[in-house]
Amino acid sequence: MSVYIPLATKYRPQRFADVIGQDITVKIIMNGMMKNRLGAAMLFSGTRGVGKTTIARIVAKAFRCEHSTPEPCGKCESCQSFANGSQIDVIEIDAASNTGVDDVREIIESCRYKPTIGKFKIFIIDEVHMLSNSAFNALLKTLEEPPEHVKFLMATTETYKIPETILSRVLKFDLKRIETDVLAQHLSTICNQENVVANADVLTAIAKAADGSIRDSLSILDQVINISDKNEISMDDVRNILGISDESDIIDLVKLILVSNVKAAVQKFRNILTSDISCEKVANTILDYIYALTCIKSDIELPNGTIQSDIIEKLRLLAKNVSLPALTRMWQMLLRGIEEIKMCDRPEIVLEMMLIRITYASGLPDLQDIITGNNDVSSYCDGKSENKTGIDVNNIGSNATNNIDINGNETISAKIINNEMHKQGILEKTEIKTVEAEKKKEEEEETAEEQQHKQSSESLLDEALKMFPDAVIE
Ligand SMILES: [Zn+2]
Repeated sequence: MSVYIPLATKYRPQRFADVIGQDITVKIIMNGMMKNRLGAAMLFSGTRGVGKTTIARIVAKAFRCEHSTPEPCGKCESCQSFANGSQIDVIEIDAASNTGVDDVREIIESCRYKPTIGKFKIFIIDEVHMLSNSAFNALLKTLEEPPEHVKFLMATTETYKIPETILSRVLKFDLKRIETDVLAQHLSTICNQENVVANADVLTAIAKAADGSIRDSLSILDQVINISDKNEISMDDVRNILGISDESDIIDLVKLILVSNVKAAVQKFRNILTSDISCEKVANTILDYIYALTCIKSDIELPNGTIQSDIIEKLRLLAKNVSLPALTRMWQMLLRGIEEIKMCDRPEIVLEMMLIRITYASGLPDLQDIITGNNDVSSYCDGKSENKTGIDVNNIGSNATNNIDINGNETISAKIINNEMHKQGILEKTEIKTVEAEKKKEEEEETAEEQQHKQSSESLLDEALKMFPDAVIE
């Protein structure tokens, strides 16, 4: 039985043309090679699985290739030695396990000797941010005056941990997360080569779960292929591997939120959680749908691969009965809630509370309607609408702040309304109106007072002139 090679290893790019999603970086490197303008040290930064070490290896191969084209030929003796692991003038160091100054001294000592064959001796230092301060200091001297035959190719996920003195002496490349549609297309190519059938939605779901990482996407694809009994992978296979819920369940949840049905929304949310999906995933999926609804409402095209095509059709139907202000409100509340989920040991309770708030809020009238007075606010509490809040919203537009009890305290419903209105910016506007009205009243009172004062002064003057007609008034 032959040894299985994981897809991430099997399809690791061996030349610049195979690198995906990093076009600018690849172009700069290839042009730099052609013009002989690449320095002695380069740093590749970026999140996991975006191709930092892969690109560093291709650069090493290109520097060592016997041909002078920027793209390594793959055929010369040097290129072949990369393929069979016999390349001795390229030294890979994992800084995570070689953090000390002595490890760096070994590198520096090795720099003194020219490569066995070819022009360059190359050091690839992975996770370079893990080096100690003294190790960085030792390396600095060599980076300041590197021997002509030496190249340093460094990779890191945490650039900010690298001293400025080092950063200022390297050519930096910040690698991007791979776009979902680019990743899905890459997975499609690999599925074709592996004779695996997968539709676009399945590949998009895998690409989204990988969150910009090629390595993660291929690792998930490996697992999904393994779980499938046939040479075809389905959405159910992907859900089983990723522990994600059926998207239609979350669409149903969004629908219940939009019609302000708190009880049913909470029940739906609890059902969704039984499928082992994480709270963060649920919240992020709802965020994705709110974003998609906003784009649909605004007639803006959705970026490729953001949402599956069948889900988009369902969202189009939902979009007809929701307003942009309501979507904006939900977006803001949800964003705040996601931060709260991270801070709490019981994320399911935090998310449930958040969903209750959002569902309540979606039953409130829109700011625009309140300001313009065009809405029939009473419909929100007369039983005709889907409002289940039980909140008296009759006074929202005019004097919500006056909703006080017999002791002069804000009633609970007034507090909830005020809170929600503050979030929508409603109170800011109504408060401005109230302040303006009060200011006008004060000005009118002041004018009346001044008028009265002026009149009384004038009458006193008249009296005085009558009594002393010869007096000179200055
Ligand atoms: Zn070559």
